[in-house]
Amino acid sequence: MNSSTFDYKRAATVDDAIALLQEHGDGGKLIAGGHSLLPIMKLRLAEPDVLIDIGRIAELRGVRRDAGEIAIGALTTHHQVATDPEVRSTIPLLADTASRVGDRQVRNRGTIGGALAHADAASDYPAAVLALDATIVARGPRGERRIPAREFFLDFLTTALEPDEVLTAVHISEPAAGHGWSYQKLANQASGYAIVGVGAIVVLDASGVCADLRIGVTGTAAVAWRAEATEAALRGQQLEPGAVAAAAELVDDGIDALDDLHGSAEYRRRVTRGLTRRAILEAVERTHSRGS
Ligand SMILES: Cc1cc2nc3c(=O)[nH]c(=O)nc-3n(C[C@H](O)[C@H](O)[C@H](O)COP(=O)(O)OP(=O)(O)OC[C@H]3O[C@@H](n4cnc5c(N)ncnc54)[C@H](O)[C@@H]3O)c2cc1C
Repeated sequence: MNSSTFDYKRAATVDDAIALLQEHGDGGKLIAGGHSLLPIMKLRLAEPDVLIDIGRIAELRGVRRDAGEIAIGALTTHHQVATDPEVRSTIPLLADTASRVGDRQVRNRGTIGGALAHADAASDYPAAVLALDATIVARGPRGERRIPAREFFLDFLTTALEPDEVLTAVHISEPAAGHGWSYQKLANQASGYAIVGVGAIVVLDASGVCADLRIGVTGTAAVAWRAEATEAALRGQQLEPGAVAAAAELVDDGIDALDDLHGSAEYRRRVTRGLTRRAILEAVERTHSRGS
């Protein structure tokens, strides 16, 4: 199917994009890589009057260090996130997650900002940005604001972004030296999307006790979440397989699992618990291998 007709405008700067969003109201839609927006336009699930192309705004591209944080511009492609030396060495969880998005073509065109703003339930990044306690930076007519990842994902395809705001960057504080990490994913074999994806960060103290554990889960439900009950059960404990398996059973407490052609709710719950256990144990393994 073809999309409905639309006008096309190219924004030269972020301020330009904000002004165009204000000018066109509900009819205006930003386009970055187009790899989520164009498919839904072809299905006529979105029929914008005007596409506002932000794809050439240089200030939205690339990775830099910024006041102790790694700042990743919204237009940075999945491939760039996966291969950037700074991201790979400092926040390997994010690099690995990006490397497992879709296929090569998707990774070369799709952007981290577009993926987060779109907030597909099966998107990979929410698991990582939740586990990394990332901050989403947005700019609009009222200025810039920083949104904690935990407050960003509100519902299916719905985020805390206002309609006239541009997501400009993702900021991530460097995790503790020697931390362990893992991204476990059950991928849809056709598209690569996450039926379930679990990201984990583990920090052990000198005696091997869990000083910090952060787990983000995507795919299972309409909205990604932090697995707080599992985290609380294991902080201050030795991360032995038995204790980890027991805590992983808590991961989906209070969660309304999706039930669709890709998997029943019960199947998703079981996979989520299994991948949570694997993610924690692999993260622990990596912590040890980094010599902490
Ligand atoms: C075949 C295929 C397989 C895929 N597999 C996966 C997968 O395995 N895992 C996965 O996570 N994703 C997958 N995707 C989605 C892909 O990652 C997209 O690139 C991503 O979801 C959207 O990024 P984009 O830059 O293409 O955004 P676009 O499609 O351009 O935009 C998406 C939405 O975000 C808004 N938007 C874009 N940028 C901004 C911004 N800076 N500020 C505010 N709003 C903005 C747009 O207005 C639009 O509503 C797949 C896509 C395809 C086509």
